[in-house]
Amino acid sequence: MTTATAPKEWLLDEENELRIEIDFGTKVKLRLVTGTAEVFGTELAQKIDYEFSGRKIAVFTWHGCKLLVTGHCSVEYIANETPMVSYLNMHLALEQRRLLATQNKGQGPRVLIVGPNDVGKTSLSKMLLSYALRQSRQPTYVDLDCSEGSITMPGCLTATPLTEMIDAEEGFGSSATSAPTAGSAVMPLAYYFGFPSPKDNVKLYNLLVSRLAHSVNRRLEEDETARSSGIIIDTNGLIDSTGYEVIAHCIKAFAVDVIVVLGHERLYSDMTRLHKKAGVAVIKLAKSGGVVERDPAFRRHTQNQKIREYFYGTSKNELAPYSTMINYHDMEILRVGEGSLAPSSALPIGEDRKVSETHVVKVEPGEHLLHSVLAVSNADKMTEPEILETNLAGFVYISEIHDARKKMTVLSPCPGRIPKKFWWLGSLKWAED
Ligand code: ADP
Repeated sequence: MTTATAPKEWLLDEENELRIEIDFGTKVKLRLVTGTAEVFGTELAQKIDYEFSGRKIAVFTWHGCKLLVTGHCSVEYIANETPMVSYLNMHLALEQRRLLATQNKGQGPRVLIVGPNDVGKTSLSKMLLSYALRQSRQPTYVDLDCSEGSITMPGCLTATPLTEMIDAEEGFGSSATSAPTAGSAVMPLAYYFGFPSPKDNVKLYNLLVSRLAHSVNRRLEEDETARSSGIIIDTNGLIDSTGYEVIAHCIKAFAVDVIVVLGHERLYSDMTRLHKKAGVAVIKLAKSGGVVERDPAFRRHTQNQKIREYFYGTSKNELAPYSTMINYHDMEILRVGEGSLAPSSALPIGEDRKVSETHVVKVEPGEHLLHSVLAVSNADKMTEPEILETNLAGFVYISEIHDARKKMTVLSPCPGRIPKKFWWLGSLKWAED
């Protein structure tokens, strides 16, 4: 870690933002001295140090402020042109729908945010959720971006009913699926996809989206406040023909009534042509000039940090994971869609690719599992397709393999025996540092 340098003072006029990038392994402290400021919608308190590492953030002020930044930022500048007014207007339009829904005891807006990679979809989701929370709403955040995993782990599709403000430093955090996440008093719903892109297994992805939508709808039926607060759905940046197929499926599954297209004219025009009809609004918003393209190395770092936080927590909220020795015969390792990797001609006669894409296969334990992160299913039986649609209990990390003794050592956030037998293997690996 670099040692702290002298604090640097920044004076921001109204509707300006300070954009900073902090490398991994570097810590930067941010303090709001006077005025008001927010990080992706979460208001900062005055005279408190917020710490950031490995992040690219914007500190925006509606009315002007003075900030102190201590530590080394790889990029730091003030921008006076931002799309924040249009984002706020978007929120106000959603708020109108929420008001109506509250009066009718009905359903609040179901918003789908689409666009290519790195246009600010996750940041806009956070802002719209935070603004809703600031107005005492309880919106549900649905994260369909399996490459990132804002909640829990990469490879998951999740839904979280939010009740508390999103943490400025940690975002949604990286909570265990068996515990409430930051910003929520309720457990997130998580289903395991296991691949970085919907393209890797479209049939499974769509199946899980339907399953997640079904579970979210059931929760909302029972909770009037959450129902009228609506849903914000963050998506993966896939916008080719497969992406369109996945988007169309998601619109249907979640009964989306507002589509927000970020920073892509053609996508906006296509979404309008394909989906704009009575009751479905398609809205175009500009990409912020501050959104940073993340290269594969940065994404990998973020993913590692996410996995690390799941087991060890953050500097603010440390966790101590448990190491447990498990016999091979005490669990069953599963993988989905093995057949999809084989050419169609290699599939058994009569079995088409679509079926094999959601076929569950057993995986023999062995050295190849070392450093894998596996998702522990809540399922008690291996019946298809039910097991695919069962949500997750949490994750384990395989730190050692003792093949000769038919045992492995796993790291888990909970002590003792892992109570669930079926573990999903995806493509997630982690070299613990
Ligand atoms: P997407 O979800 O479309 O891939 P993100 O919202 O994750 O895009 O944004 C990409 C990166 O840019 C993230 O690291 C995010 O923190 C950063 N970012 C977004 N908006 C801004 C901004 N206004 N100023 C600085 N960084 C930003």
